[in-house]
Amino acid sequence: MSVAHILGFPRVGAQRELKFALEKYWQGEIDQAKLRSIAKAVEEDGWRAQADLDLLTVGDFTFYDHILDTSVLLGVIPPRFNHPKGEKVSLDTLFRIARGRAPSGEDAPASEMTKWFDTNYHYIVPEIEKGQVFKLSSDRLFETVKRAKGFSSQAVKAVITGPLTWLKLASVKGEQFSKLELVPALTTAYKEILIQLEASGADWIQIDEPILVLDLCDKWRAAFKAVYQELAKISDKLILTTYFDELADNLETIVELPVAGLHIDAIRGDLANVVNQWPGDKILSVGIVDGRNIWANNLAQSLTTLTPLAEKWEGQLWVGSSCSLLHSPVDLNAEEKLDTEIKSWLAFGIQKIAEIKTLTLGVTDGRSAIEEALTKSNNIHASRETSTRIHNLAVAQRVAAIKAGDDQRETAFTKRSQIQANKFNLPLFPTTTIGSFPQTHEIRQIRRKYRLGEIDKQQYHEGIYDQIRYAISEQEKLGLDVLVHGEAERNDMVEYFGENLDGFAFTQFGWVQSYGSRCVKPPIIYGDVSRPKGITIDWIKFAQSLTDKPVKGMLTGPVTILSWSFPRDDESDQTSAFQIALALRDEVHDLEQAGVAIIQIDEPAIRELLPLRRERQADYLAWAEKAFRLSSSGVKAETQIHTHMCYSNFNEIIKSIANLDADVITIETSRSDMKLLNVFREFKYPNDIGPGVYDIHSPRIPTVTEIETLIEHATQYLPKEQLWINPDCGLKTRGWDEVRAALKNVVTATKSLRQRYQKAL
Ligand code: GLN
Ligand code: ZN
Repeated sequence: MSVAHILGFPRVGAQRELKFALEKYWQGEIDQAKLRSIAKAVEEDGWRAQADLDLLTVGDFTFYDHILDTSVLLGVIPPRFNHPKGEKVSLDTLFRIARGRAPSGEDAPASEMTKWFDTNYHYIVPEIEKGQVFKLSSDRLFETVKRAKGFSSQAVKAVITGPLTWLKLASVKGEQFSKLELVPALTTAYKEILIQLEASGADWIQIDEPILVLDLCDKWRAAFKAVYQELAKISDKLILTTYFDELADNLETIVELPVAGLHIDAIRGDLANVVNQWPGDKILSVGIVDGRNIWANNLAQSLTTLTPLAEKWEGQLWVGSSCSLLHSPVDLNAEEKLDTEIKSWLAFGIQKIAEIKTLTLGVTDGRSAIEEALTKSNNIHASRETSTRIHNLAVAQRVAAIKAGDDQRETAFTKRSQIQANKFNLPLFPTTTIGSFPQTHEIRQIRRKYRLGEIDKQQYHEGIYDQIRYAISEQEKLGLDVLVHGEAERNDMVEYFGENLDGFAFTQFGWVQSYGSRCVKPPIIYGDVSRPKGITIDWIKFAQSLTDKPVKGMLTGPVTILSWSFPRDDESDQTSAFQIALALRDEVHDLEQAGVAIIQIDEPAIRELLPLRRERQADYLAWAEKAFRLSSSGVKAETQIHTHMCYSNFNEIIKSIANLDADVITIETSRSDMKLLNVFREFKYPNDIGPGVYDIHSPRIPTVTEIETLIEHATQYLPKEQLWINPDCGLKTRGWDEVRAALKNVVTATKSLRQRYQKAL
């Protein structure tokens, strides 16, 4: 008998019920009781979805974020939220930590939010201080387990974040100290959690320690031994869960931990090593159904992998999702518009659960027990291997024919920049924006009416042209130097390009939680990517025809398009990135031909695909850089290439950013306190750079003095001839009044500094 389970279920609801309930609650439109009842229904939908599995996994549901839940459980509440010591933490306190405000309680700056490993999910960073005290401050997990026991007759597996993963992800506030100093106190708190979980009736405890896939030093490995030795004294029901990458050199440590079982990600991990070293008398949970991507499992292949394991782990083999299904959409059956062939290739959360169930049956009762499912799966995979919708010979040939120089500009930057300086004749500190202007109700209406067929193509174009006219005239009035068309035609910077490229599919309900109530709907790259025709040329040409100032052509870069989509599992990321890059290269070429002299290729997500393990990072960076350069290098020396990046820690990949060889990069810095600038003490950034001076996430208008200070600050790190002045990111989420006021101050500050510096020359 093998055991079927998942590591967690999507938490927002198939129709994003939790999102809407949360937002209404925050707006004061519903009360907390209503919010709780909607949340409970969503949670229990997730439980019902697991009815066919052997274990019911609970405790993964959250009102906002599971790492924040862990902090709350441990009573780790940053002092600025004035939580009364010893009391249980209220839901509003939790929301204030996450968002800075809630219907009750004082506003205070929210805790930082950052990416969960190499996914697009963001967690709330725990804040710890020297001598941090832990005191269990929430009963929610324990109450949930009790409720689950009454809900179903299945064995209940409670999910908790492991102590060392929680600690590793925490950020030290105030006086610095070694986090590991907190291990004894944290262990005591976790022992109490385990006692209460067992008392609540948990049959198993899934303890998530994904940091075991990272490069760990000996001290942290030793901490694993110490902590788990203690936890084992309380519970012999611990399943240690790892995911997202290989255990590699951490495996030796893991093998010695006194836990009941180990879960490993068989999609991204090193299953073969684990199979060799993990003892046969302990549980092995194999995450063979991909929790992070949407492709139907190759059941025959999976069964071939699992069957021999069932011998060594007789009765102790668990079959599961590679990681929590929180990274996948809920139900493929909800999709009504997906092409039926493409749809047959996919599996969302509900379908993944069925796959796990089927595989477990196959392992327990033999192939014949799942014959029908195997045949269907084989057919699907055979159709994908040969489908002409997926494979495009011309695209493959073009990628194969990429030559050494194709990703290099013909002329070196030092020379190009001279040529460009003569051509554009821009002042010191040229001003520009990042691309989008406010996405007003009017703009959304135009796009919506066109989508619904209420206006024809010509009316749609006229509508967008009006918006472009408006954006250009506003920028001229403001006195900006390099203009943009405003991106009114785009709903989303990746979706827009996906819709205009071959090889992409879109869902109606394929939402995946990004953070809190925010979800994204990534496009699906199902085949070779090519560009049937020009995408942006008309818009940019029109914008350029309205002004004598240069207007930037505006594209999303290959790595970002890849990174914010569901990638193929039958093609490497590198090849997909190169295909997208070549499609964009043609777009860049067409823009240049149309007289567009400055072209921006945004790569905000370039950091996101960076492998977790250091040893694989260089390889990734090499192809990511190359993909960008393939898209941008086919132009004349006088054509100025810009790129833009934001909201990631770019310091450690700054050399790669320089290797992109963009003539100008605009990069978010004001939100993160200009921390980025520190890197320029040691690293001489070669090309032009515009560190953001306006935090576009805040409704606040920065004052002229504030902006001047930021610019002056930047001149301490970077030669002023190299500097551009711009906001942190695109302005689509702001209103025109704010944007006008903020940009007016940006221009005023820049002009006054120009005068001051020019006098000093
Ligand atoms: N050009 C895009 C915009 O301005 C860039 C957005 C982003 O960096 N995420 O909206
Ligand atoms: Zn940005």
